[in-house]
Amino acid sequence: MSGLFCFKAAWSVRAKGVKQMKVMKFGGSSLADVDKLKHVVSLVTAESVQFPVMLVVSAPGGVTNALEAMALAAKAGRSPQLDALDRRMTELEQTVGQCLDPSAQAQLAARFADERAQLLKLVHGVTLLQRCPDEVMAQILVTGERLSVAALELLFGRKEVSVGVLDPREYFVADGAVLEAEVAVEDSRAKLASLALGAHRIWIMPGFTARNRAGEVVTLGRNGSDYSAAVLAACLHADSCEIWTDVDGVYNVDPRLIQDAHLLPALSYEEAMELSYFGAKVLHPRTIAPIAQHQIACRIRNTLNPSAPGTLIHARTSPSKSLVKAVSNLDDHWMISVSGPGMKGMVGMAGRVFNTMAAKGLSISLITQSSSEYSICFCLPAQDGPAAKAALEETFELELKQSLLEPIGIQKGLAIMTLIGDGMRTKKGVAARFFRSLAQAGASIVAIAQGSSERAISAVIEQDAAPSALRLCHQNFFDTRHYIDVVLIGAGNVGAELVRQIQSQQQALSKQNIAIRLCGVANSRKMRLSAHGLALDSWRDDLLSDGQPLDMPALLAFAHKHSLVNPVLVDCTAEQSVAAIYADALKAGWHIATPNKKANTDSMAVYRELRELAQENKRQFLYEANVGAGLPVIDNLQGLLRAGDELHQFSGILSGSLSYIFGELEEGVPLSEVTLKAKEMGFTEPDPRDDLSGMDVARKVLILAREAGLELELDDVQVESVLPEDFDASGDVASFLANLPKADAAIAQRIAAAQAEQKVLRYVGVIDADGGCQVKIEAVGRDHPLYSIKGGENALAFYSRYYQPLPFVLRGYGAGAAVTAAGVFADVLRTQSWQKEA
Ligand code: ADP
Ligand code: ASP
Ligand code: MG
Repeated sequence: MSGLFCFKAAWSVRAKGVKQMKVMKFGGSSLADVDKLKHVVSLVTAESVQFPVMLVVSAPGGVTNALEAMALAAKAGRSPQLDALDRRMTELEQTVGQCLDPSAQAQLAARFADERAQLLKLVHGVTLLQRCPDEVMAQILVTGERLSVAALELLFGRKEVSVGVLDPREYFVADGAVLEAEVAVEDSRAKLASLALGAHRIWIMPGFTARNRAGEVVTLGRNGSDYSAAVLAACLHADSCEIWTDVDGVYNVDPRLIQDAHLLPALSYEEAMELSYFGAKVLHPRTIAPIAQHQIACRIRNTLNPSAPGTLIHARTSPSKSLVKAVSNLDDHWMISVSGPGMKGMVGMAGRVFNTMAAKGLSISLITQSSSEYSICFCLPAQDGPAAKAALEETFELELKQSLLEPIGIQKGLAIMTLIGDGMRTKKGVAARFFRSLAQAGASIVAIAQGSSERAISAVIEQDAAPSALRLCHQNFFDTRHYIDVVLIGAGNVGAELVRQIQSQQQALSKQNIAIRLCGVANSRKMRLSAHGLALDSWRDDLLSDGQPLDMPALLAFAHKHSLVNPVLVDCTAEQSVAAIYADALKAGWHIATPNKKANTDSMAVYRELRELAQENKRQFLYEANVGAGLPVIDNLQGLLRAGDELHQFSGILSGSLSYIFGELEEGVPLSEVTLKAKEMGFTEPDPRDDLSGMDVARKVLILAREAGLELELDDVQVESVLPEDFDASGDVASFLANLPKADAAIAQRIAAAQAEQKVLRYVGVIDADGGCQVKIEAVGRDHPLYSIKGGENALAFYSRYYQPLPFVLRGYGAGAAVTAAGVFADVLRTQSWQKEA
């Protein structure tokens, strides 16, 4: 019979009543155990009432991996691990056998025994020779598919439906590498024409395998059963090809990596092709070509959720809101570069490079060439890297010897990130947003490629950065939410209040699409971290009962480890030792928000370094609560200065605690008493000496002065202490407070002297017209603007180019956990607006 005649015969079978035909392919995940196998049998039987079904099956999940591991172990001279595979086979045989009548059970046992015997023979040969030629490997690997077929065929036997088995080794003609073969559709179709399709309502075919023209059994590459199904659909002109798997369809990003991946209702053939090619495991890369060529609709469906519509892959582009449909990632690649002075103008270099790869059967994932023709770079899977390098060194032996070429360049540990979507062609700015996302992820770009179709843009990046890059691309292209992941150091008053505020605002923020989570807390001894967020009502107790010992490097590495998109380190301590980690934190990708003044009042060198690091790492260093607690001091000042204003002079009451203390002093309360009270109310620094010595105010003045562009150190600020010069302020906080009554008289005397002149004492910070900074006790009269500032209030007067002679004034409560935490919270939320701009 001639091929053409046979084809007509098969077609005529279809024309006579076997009208619509469906190919249904079930992957290993849908065939992993007896219940799943039975489920497949019911699904296919139900479908076959309406259509004849060509059922293509993979090996039961995990079996191909076990077969491969066994063969490789045998080849390496290790004892092949038959046990795991044997257990799996025995379990299948027994559990499936229990569903069968005795004669079917015996048949199953006989077929499994055959497979076992064959396998043992093959593995024995490999062990003896310590070699596993591809033809032998192929025969070993395809055993798994045959197990599925045997089990299913017998399970179908229980139903009243006629089932035939189609052996692709008889009908699929393959070319190319033995373990990555390609099926020749026309030749295979001609062979299939001899098959009496109408003889059965259901045909089962093992996927993943074929026979080449030399008569050898070949595989179609790992995950290749999807391709088997597509080829069969193309050969038989099937009306549809369904790929049944363990997810609801194709997602815009690998759902294993991104929790809130979106399901795509439809994709064009081209989009599906790019997506599978660039790493979406849900489809084998070669699946689409045959069905696209014959315009067969393909649907990806979920075996565990058969009523879901799945994803339709068809000829039309279906509009999507974002125009970018998906983002995918290919891990573990090498980039190889061929370059050298001899390349320029050398005709046929690219041809030689790629012919070398083709001759070795190595497939390339991505190519870039510099326009100067000085170098050709391409990526390929790491496992093929050494062979590619060796092959190129052989091809270009002469050129390398004569130094016309530089040594073949290798870069390892790379990932290829790809954006896919038909709509990208018409949309501007997609690439810019893509690269911005990569930058936000801290990924440096090794190479870029864009297909001429403009349907896909790829960037090669270091693999370490791939998880956060994927997350950020997903977030920037598909997610309207903005994430803020807070890790809090310092579980004192301000820290606890901040968590309370986060908790009470969480819902309102979520309505504005801001997802804020507390991903960690730490005190000086313990820490507790969770990428999914900690419970906000029990975090403090949980830290005490369940915290691990504080490990600062691990805490800083946490953001990267969990690919947090917008991690914010909040330092609610007043510790120098915590400020000292900011540089490392910025380098590790954290934003910093803090009321702690220690970093900003360290040396100018540190001050500059932190700003440079923030810029370099595209992170923010925010410290609004450094001055005036929750009052928006820094933000306003920065806004004015950015807009061209200049600070000429400043004066103000900068300490909420001293504002409170001085207010009480004039009512006759002794210093020691009011200090204790202020401490209890959370108005003072943890160590009240920071307030009373004037150092805390001095730090604030220095921060304002530096903000205005003055290059000063803390020593440059002249400080008058509230405590008398001869007062001994040494010891710990408790002994200092116990000693404090000794200072009561001196300050009471100064108050009385001022009162005699109808004045009150105020503790003020000043930046004078010459840039000199002082903090001091000043006696002010009734007409002075600071006369009425007390009770914890702050007042800040900025005299500037734009604001004179009347200053720009900020006034309000400048101390206490609530306002301070609110200032920090505002900073934490600022990281989100930065995110949008970035
Ligand atoms: P099967 O055994 O059915 O052939 P595979 O494991 O080969 O299944 O492919 C399905 C898996 O592909 C899914 O479980 C999912 O984890 C993974 N996957 C990767 N990228 C995507 C994507 N973009 N959409 C859907 N699934 C994806
Ligand atoms: N069983 C083969 C594999 O695991 C083919 C497939 O599942 O598609 O690679
Ligand atoms: Mg698969």
